[in-house]
Amino acid sequence: MTAKIIDGKAYAEGLRARIAKAVKELQAKHGLKPGLAVVLVGEDPASKVYVANKAKQTVEVGMNSWEHRLDASTSEKDLLALVDKLNSDPTVHGILVQLPLPKQIDSTKVLSAIDPAKDVDGFHVVNVGKLATGQDALVACTPVGSVMLAKDALGKLDGLEAVVIGRSNIVGKPMALLLIGESATVTVAHSRTRELRDVVRRADIVVAAVGRPEMVKGDWIKPGATVIDVGINRVPTEDGRSRLVGDVDFAGASECAGAITPVPGGVGPMTIAMLLRNTVVAAHRRAGLSDPEEV
Ligand code: NDP
Repeated sequence: MTAKIIDGKAYAEGLRARIAKAVKELQAKHGLKPGLAVVLVGEDPASKVYVANKAKQTVEVGMNSWEHRLDASTSEKDLLALVDKLNSDPTVHGILVQLPLPKQIDSTKVLSAIDPAKDVDGFHVVNVGKLATGQDALVACTPVGSVMLAKDALGKLDGLEAVVIGRSNIVGKPMALLLIGESATVTVAHSRTRELRDVVRRADIVVAAVGRPEMVKGDWIKPGATVIDVGINRVPTEDGRSRLVGDVDFAGASECAGAITPVPGGVGPMTIAMLLRNTVVAAHRRAGLSDPEEV
């Protein structure tokens, strides 16, 4: 069997077009333009690239974008003061503080200071608690984007066996909660899991969020299963350069999976698209409107 490639890039493009339409309608009908404020502390090169991409795509869908770049020596007090200011600014509907933060700043404290209604990263305990109890929440972008791709490939997920490898607060745990919400039968595996290969082998849906290049081998995959590879790992190549690979051995897994996300071009592009979606949803909720159906 050769797996169908789940094209996250194309899906994210379509989603951004629908978000742009929802933004336009919100402005035309209610005079409201959603806005996303991104805060970057320090000079981390990868974070700078992420923040620039987020700002570019925010503007492209017609929303306001603000970038707050702070010096690496910024104090926790000053960062908290900025978060407070953004919390009370009615033109700001989403706030994202780019992680990691410099070591003098307690990131848990900063994330907890963001108004949960503007927490478009979905990391605030209020949003995590709402997700866990099945209430409307702003949900972490990568897991919700991954589940969207799985649903696009499979339709309904109810009754399917899902195995999530990884239990981080950012990916694994919210992913498991979302899959439970879709009525899948969910197993969460991690570094202490015994006989991981056998656990993965029973899954109809495998979600790999480990951070170990190509750890999940092709012969771990049940024939016909859907594989969602969240991992992004940079590995050296023979010519002295580097390339990106996922947590799944793509070539091997493609031989037996029914469908699989590539790296790059699978889950990755969904993350920013979901950030924009969360911002437009937050703007609707703030205005007392129901969530836009088309996104
Ligand atoms: P973390 O390092 O926070 O978590 C990794 C998880 O994998 C942990 O739960 C760990 O278990 C588990 N794990 C580690 N080694 C093994 C092993 N040998 N067998 C089974 N489980 C193992 O990573 P994140 O969740 O933040 O990220 C995971 C991956 O997803 C990374 O490659 C990251 O780059 C990528 N990512 C991609 C995003 C995107 O936009 N596409 C966004 C966010 C992340 P334990 O808890 O026991 O230590």
